[in-house]
Amino acid sequence: MQIKILKGTNQIGGVFTEISSKEAKIIIDFGDDLDGVKRLENIEGLTTGEPIYDGVFITHNHQDHMGRIDDILDKVPVYMSDLSKKIFETVFCFSKNKGKINRKTINLEEGKAIIINDMKIIPYIVDHSAYNSFMLLIEAEGKRILHTGDFRNHGYKGVLLENTLKKIGKIDLLITEGTTLSREQLKSKTEAELVDDIVEKTKDYDQVLMLMSTTNIDRVTTMQRVANRTGKTVIHDIVLSNVLQLVTQKIPNALNSKNVGVYLPNSVYIKRDKEEYKKYIAPFQEKINETGQLLHGKFIMNIRVSMLKDIERLKDKVLNNCCVVYSMWEGYQEEEIYKRFLDKMKELNIDIYNLHVSGHADYTAFNQVIEITNPNAVIPMHTENKEKIKDFTDKAIILDDMEVYEI
Ligand SMILES: [Zn+2]
Ligand SMILES: [Zn+2]
Repeated sequence: MQIKILKGTNQIGGVFTEISSKEAKIIIDFGDDLDGVKRLENIEGLTTGEPIYDGVFITHNHQDHMGRIDDILDKVPVYMSDLSKKIFETVFCFSKNKGKINRKTINLEEGKAIIINDMKIIPYIVDHSAYNSFMLLIEAEGKRILHTGDFRNHGYKGVLLENTLKKIGKIDLLITEGTTLSREQLKSKTEAELVDDIVEKTKDYDQVLMLMSTTNIDRVTTMQRVANRTGKTVIHDIVLSNVLQLVTQKIPNALNSKNVGVYLPNSVYIKRDKEEYKKYIAPFQEKINETGQLLHGKFIMNIRVSMLKDIERLKDKVLNNCCVVYSMWEGYQEEEIYKRFLDKMKELNIDIYNLHVSGHADYTAFNQVIEITNPNAVIPMHTENKEKIKDFTDKAIILDDMEVYEI
């Protein structure tokens, strides 16, 4: 088999991996570059010309892994979990730059192999900050490659990693994400430990606003646990309320629990006669009306930067002893929209705490995957410091973008 990282040996996000056997040629992940620059905008046989690829596989629904799937030629099949696609579409239905996915996709499911000529691709659920993320095992020509996608072992599903890797067993080649290779090698705090930190910092506030990703379902659980320990009501905004209907009924949500409210932000304006109203807002209308009352007690609520106007409006009436927990990757704070939001919070005298755990593998996760799958070669990608992988293995293969490696 041949492996070529089209893009991603020197960058995080926007990573495209090409794997070819004698009879099949696939791409893993096709998303946007995190800095917004469109590197490698056109790929012959994938986005232009006659198709030469047999499939594109999407590991999870983060923008940097799937954001460009509409650019793929119609004749090239795209494999992606239906659930991940639905979550993506639900979130983006509420945003200005509607993220509707226009192309057909074929469902990917845990453990269900996709066979393309002489190649077999098997998805395994893995712990990451996006719900329903996959690692992919690729088998062809008697060789086995594990592509980790984005992963970690310190979320609520982290304990499952060991078993998954044992099930996969010995592999020939590991292609691993290396997001944290450019950071100091510290053991990441777990989501469970994050609960303790948030409780500690926020227990004396009456209102806690969690600035977080709406698709980070582990963080929703964390928010619920903080609420339980600090005697606060949980309020989900309308977007999160919809996402939770798709993913699990194990987390209390607006429709399955009396104790969870729904907030409809001002920025969400969908006319009552629109299809979208019936689908995304009508089921929660009663709960939205009731939630007005909850806003006068102690509560914890997820927020997004688009809710700036809401916070200003609620500041004097409702938010009288309030803090914001910034619970996302710190890098976003460089972006104008986040800067503006955080500056405004300071102006309103709202305290801000940075409390977050990464969605990416720390050194314990690298060690775990290498020890259990015992690969003959390890290629790092989705990283800004690929050489650092040598600290974890003497089998490192350091590639540049577009360089071909054969096994
Ligand atoms: Zn990523
Ligand atoms: Zn990701």
